[in-house]
Amino acid sequence: MRGYLSDCDIRVPGSLTEALAMLSGEPGVWTPFAGGTDLMVVYNAGRLKATRFLDLSGLAELRGIQEEGACLAFGSLATFSDIRDHRAVHQHFPNLVKSARATGALAIQNRGTLGGNIVNASPAADTPPSLLAYGAELELVSSRGRRRVAYDHFHLGYKQMDLAADELVARILVPKPEGRSFHYFRKVGTRQAQAIAKVCLAAHVRIVDGNLAELRIGLGSVAPAPVRARNAEAALLGKSLTDLPVLAARAALLADMSPIDDIRASAHYRSVVTQNVLGHMLRELANV
Ligand SMILES: Cc1cc2nc3c(=O)[nH]c(=O)nc-3n(C[C@H](O)[C@H](O)[C@H](O)COP(=O)(O)OP(=O)(O)OC[C@H]3O[C@@H](n4cnc5c(N)ncnc54)[C@H](O)[C@@H]3O)c2cc1C
Repeated sequence: MRGYLSDCDIRVPGSLTEALAMLSGEPGVWTPFAGGTDLMVVYNAGRLKATRFLDLSGLAELRGIQEEGACLAFGSLATFSDIRDHRAVHQHFPNLVKSARATGALAIQNRGTLGGNIVNASPAADTPPSLLAYGAELELVSSRGRRRVAYDHFHLGYKQMDLAADELVARILVPKPEGRSFHYFRKVGTRQAQAIAKVCLAAHVRIVDGNLAELRIGLGSVAPAPVRARNAEAALLGKSLTDLPVLAARAALLADMSPIDDIRASAHYRSVVTQNVLGHMLRELANV
């Protein structure tokens, strides 16, 4: 059964300060509403408990994508279309462009936001693996001030986050890669488009003198939250492009995952396919 719209109270704050005052005045009462593409699905199914919403969409402070020193700063209201079409995102973060293109169809890309994708905290969301691979940082804001959290420490468990009831995600800061880089993004779904990921893997590698000087691998759909593949990363770090320990990395990757059986795929499928995707990524890496 659908929810009743007349039961809902939707406020449109005129400024970020006003929005934060409402959140801190009644913590846990107001649910931030960005594009609404996740919230409306739950509402339509009659499963949304919240009835009081804070519409963020008019807050200029949360919009835009800007160069900021060594980072690109994404306002939490940046949509998938903003990301997909931004010149600097293409230049520095091709995985984020691919993640945005892989998300829903155009209507969802026009409304859905990066902040919403992060805070909805689906283990199968498409931008988190890329944000993990690029070492993103979140800027959280409340009436108490601003603080930064490394994105790979933000998700604490299934739908649990380092985010207080009076806080909003304000910006997502992503350091621009320097030197020789390798970028990889692969989403495996039932179809090429309009499918939820069964497995998702994004990687970024910095190559110095033919060796893997720095690398991060982000995984989706194989754990209660998006996760770094820290064991696979450790097996590969410092290794030469001409002698990548593919079997050791694939084996190590098993310890990075805790997949489940669900309607989209079995746990076994997820483990094997993630290992295969890693193998594919390493073959591409060896040929750069
Ligand atoms: C048909 C369809 C297809 C989809 N396909 C995909 C897909 O392929 N891949 C994918 O990853 N997702 C997909 N989604 C899910 C959804 O579009 C994304 O997760 C989107 O990024 C959510 O953003 P939003 O702005 O619409 O979030 P909302 O629905 O407005 O909010 C989602 C959650 O985030 C919270 N929130 C939003 N912004 C903030 C903020 N700044 N600070 C704190 N909390 C905040 C809200 O309170 C809510 O809990 C799909 C959804 C639909 C309906």
